[in-house]
Parts: sequence; C-alpha cells; structure tokens
Amino acid sequence: MKRIGHFVDGQVVDGGEKTGPVYNPATGEQSGEVALASGAELDNAVDIARKAQREWRTTPLAKRAGVMFRLRQIVTERTDELARIITSEHGKVVSDAAGEVARGLENVEFCAGLMHHLKGEYSEQVAGGVDVHQTRQPVGVVACITPFNFPAMVPLWMITTAIAAGNAVILKPSERDPSAALWIAQAFAEAGLPAGVLNVINGDAETVNAILDHDGIDAVSFVGSTPIAKHIYETSAANGKRVQALGGAKNHMVVMPDADLDAAADAAVSAAYGSAGERCMAVSVLVAVGDVADELVGKVADRLPGLKIGDGTDPESEMGPLITRDARDRVAGYVEGAAGEGATVVVDGREKQFDGDGFFIGVSLVDNVEPGMKVYDDEIFGPVLSVVRVGSYDQAVELINANQYANGVAVFTRDGKTARQFEFDIEVGMVGVNVPIPVPIGAYSFGGWKKSLFGDTHMYGPESFNFYTRRKVVTTRWPEPSESQISLGFPTH
Ligand code: NAD
Repeated sequence: MKRIGHFVDGQVVDGGEKTGPVYNPATGEQSGEVALASGAELDNAVDIARKAQREWRTTPLAKRAGVMFRLRQIVTERTDELARIITSEHGKVVSDAAGEVARGLENVEFCAGLMHHLKGEYSEQVAGGVDVHQTRQPVGVVACITPFNFPAMVPLWMITTAIAAGNAVILKPSERDPSAALWIAQAFAEAGLPAGVLNVINGDAETVNAILDHDGIDAVSFVGSTPIAKHIYETSAANGKRVQALGGAKNHMVVMPDADLDAAADAAVSAAYGSAGERCMAVSVLVAVGDVADELVGKVADRLPGLKIGDGTDPESEMGPLITRDARDRVAGYVEGAAGEGATVVVDGREKQFDGDGFFIGVSLVDNVEPGMKVYDDEIFGPVLSVVRVGSYDQAVELINANQYANGVAVFTRDGKTARQFEFDIEVGMVGVNVPIPVPIGAYSFGGWKKSLFGDTHMYGPESFNFYTRRKVVTTRWPEPSESQISLGFPTH
C-alpha cells in the first residue's frame, strides 16, 4: 500500500504517528495511507517556511515570474499524469480532472503577470514637496487548507498567488485525496521554487486546529464546508490572523418560460451531475418558473438513462463514484428521505446497479421540492437534482435570496431585460446568464456571499493579491535643512 508523507524543505518526508486511509473510490479498495501530522511536524515546517520566506521576499520579481512560467509549462505538459492521480483518489473522470487542472492553470497564468499585480501607487506633491507612495509586501507564512473535491485546482488558486506575492506556504490538503498536492509541490520545485517556500503538511482536523493556533502562521485561506469555514474564520480571527474561508453551496438554476428548454435541460444535467455533483458550483436546484415545469422535468428525466457512470479511468465514463462509502450512503439517505418529506422522486439513483465495491450511486431527480425539506435545505454534495416549481420571476428571486448559501446561480432566458433584472436583484456572489456554472475566469476573483464565504476577500485574481499582501504607505519629503523648525501641532497639508 502506498504511504503518503509530507513535503517539507523541498523533500518528501514521512512523519506523524497517526495515519488515515486513502481509497480508490472506483474499486472501494484502500490504496494508501496518508501520514497525519502532529504539532511537532507542523512546528518544524513553519520554522522552515519562516526562514525560506525571508529569502523569498527578496527574490526579484522577474525570477518569481520565471517560476510561474516554468510551472505552467510543466503542468501543461504533464496534465494527464496529474489528472490520473486526481482520478485515482477522488474518482472523477480523467477528462474532468484535466479540466480542473486547466482551471487551476488559469491562476498560474494570471500570477505570471505578478509584476503588474504587485505594482504600488504614487501620489506626487500631496503637500508642498511631499510625496506618498504605497507598496505591497507579503504577509509572511500563509496556511492553505483545501477540500477534497478539487485536489489540484483549489490548491493552485491559493498557493500560486501567495507565492507570487512573496509569501511562504503551508498547504494542508484534504486527507481523502492528498497526492495531487504533493505532485504540485514537486512541480513547483522543478520550476525553480526554492526549498521551504512551499510545504505540504498532510493531516486532519487536529492538524488544522494546530495551524489555527500557531503563532508562526500569519494568514489562513480555506475552502471547504460551511460549518468548518465558520470555525476556521472565527478561530483564525480570534488568534489575530488574516483569514478568508469559503464554505458550502446550494446553487439554483432558474428556467424562465421563454427559455429554450432543450438547452436548459442539457445545461441542468451537465451542471448537476458532472463530477457526481461534488462541485461547489454544481447546480443542485432547478427552479422552474410558470408552466415550463412538466416539460422541463420530462426533458431532464429523458436525458438521465443515457449517462454513463463508471470508473473514471474508462474514457467512456461521464460520471465517476463518490469520494467515500459514507458520502454515497449520505446521498442515498437524502433520496430516501425526499419522498417522506412530500417530494416526488422522479428518478431514483439508488436503483441503479453497479458491479464491485466502488462508491457508486446513480443520478437522482426529485420534483416538487420546497424549502423546509432536508433535500432542499442541506447541501447534499452528490448527484441529486431537486426541482422547485414557482409561479413567477419574483417568487424565484425570493426563494433564492432567502437561501442561506449564495455561491453561484444561473438564469436561463432569451430575454435580455429579464436577465439584466435578475443580475441586479439576485443576492449571490457569482451569476450566470445562460451559463450554468459561472466560475469566473482567472482575471476576476471567485467567491460567494452569505454562508458561502466568511471574510471579505474572494479567491484568486486581483482580490487574492490583496489578501496575500500588506499595503505599506510611505510619506516622503526632502526639505532644506535650513527650513527645519519645531512644531508641536498635528501635521496638516
Ligand atoms: P470539509 O469542510 O470537510 O474539509 C475541508 C478541509 O477542512 C479539509 O482539509 C479537512 O481536513 C479540514 N477539516 C475537516 N473537518 C475539520 C474540523 N472539524 N476541524 C478543522 N478542519 C477540518 O470539506 P470537504 O468535504 O473536503 O469538501 C466539500 C465541501 O467544500 C463542500 O461543502 C463544498 O461546497 C465546499 N467547497 C466550497 C468551495 C467554494 O469555493 N465555496 C469550493 C470547493 C468546495
């Protein structure tokens, strides 16, 4: 069985008496065991990161940019290798894994322009002979704590920007699929990143809590579920750390009566069941407005028997298994509970049979869902699409704005005025107009509102450079010594 260690000071190291199991979700077999770091391993990694950061912040920007260009080259050329590692531990199909690598690379490309993103500001002659300028300096050592569902993309969102800005990083990936993070750390090393600037510490909740309490860590970036995001946010803030913590989601897709229903059904199926629904931007609620509901539900249901569910390494597969047996059983529980809550289970994914012990479940479609039902209120994070029927545009907006989550949302319509009004009215961080998964390109930043994000800074893109830098404002004058005098008054201009 594969033993998965840490990556500290440029080397793979073992360490930690505790271990956790890593599975191949397609077979259900344990494929490895990952070392779970104790406080001692963390202390050592933070010491190394602090020393490395002192050097790294002095490294010329052109050299830092060179690392980004080389990293892009390495990851582009070896995407298939990384994608297969992701599939072996996460289960998603290889093409989808390659897609997440490509979206992660967008941020590497953005960071290759770090000379531009780290530019300061200058105001000349703010008072007689006085100038002011602002610089951006790194915050120090940053901890990046990531979820299982994007084991390459989310680390690339965080660590790349943190490093570009001159910080050192402790990356704590999900203990369920940790190997992609180690691969990325080695790729950074090959790209010329000095040892100690990027360290991967594997671990579980105990390791995370040690990170939150560690005096040597200045800032925490987190992506994961809402209860943990809240805990990360509150604890980091209480300990005086800068923090951004992205949480869970319940993403709605509104279908207006004038929408093209075939296109809407294609989009809903793709966005609900891709990656087995284990995407923070997956569509999990279809909101059918007016009289489209019967036809729309019929069109979605018609498409489901054709989906090919199987081992993610099989090029024929469109959807793989869930991450763990527990996750699979949890999803099945929601489908079972839905009928008891008064919803209509149109397609029951539990009925689909699979060979072997993989963590597979079929796709489910549940109609007549309403707020107050668990199938609506909870983030299921699996291949279950709920349909809520509403009478009007206003009711659709009211439903969505009342939801505790506000990560992504989409509207499908042929009417520009409705789309514009929706964009204005809806209280959600990322909006798609005829786009079901509106993940912004790398030049913008990613983040939801309400319980989908604690803190105020979104991830990657320009906001990320704000998060990973401290602004320093310098006021300068070069007076004639002969004009010097004592003045106890408060300086004004
Ligand atoms: P999770 O919250 O269980 O785990 C995320 C990280 O937190 C992991 O590294 C894990 O080791 C750590 N962790 C888990 N329990 C902890 C605890 N009690 N104390 C301290 N640390 C703990 O999330 P997950 O299941 O790995 O990922 C799926 C979740 O992530 C979903 O809710 C999904 O919506 C969310 N997500 C959100 C976004 C976003 O951008 N908003 C993106 C991807 C995933």
